[in-house]
Amino acid sequence: MLEHKYDLGDVVYGIRRYNEPVMETCSQCGGEGQHTWKSGSKVRCSLCWGSGTVTRDHYSHWTLDRNHAVLCIGQVRVKCTQVSQYPGADVQKSVKYMCWQSGVGGGTLWAEKDLWPSKAEARAECARRNQEAADAK
Ligand SMILES: [Zn+2]
Repeated sequence: MLEHKYDLGDVVYGIRRYNEPVMETCSQCGGEGQHTWKSGSKVRCSLCWGSGTVTRDHYSHWTLDRNHAVLCIGQVRVKCTQVSQYPGADVQKSVKYMCWQSGVGGGTLWAEKDLWPSKAEARAECARRNQEAADAK
């Protein structure tokens, strides 16, 4: 039987990877968001659509789930699959959870490694993963 770390009703903190855009000043309009013709009429910049900034890159990082400050386990899914029918064949195991705040039955399926029993542990794991990603670059 497969052990699971959390049980129904346990309060946990979820972590997620977010992909944030890295913005820079538009090179076509210099951040003005518009161009001025010799006649004095203005036209919206076609590169940044008037915002003055464009997306240069994306930066991904782990942080506490922004939609749910705290989660409460509502479903535990333990899956054990034997890779073939022969006795002694490897067994693949996975434990996933659904939480009341993010939907039970339909909603987010959380991996065990992305749930933590305290905010401090969740933050420490985010820092560890972000450091790992930075080191890998
Ligand atoms: Zn522009």
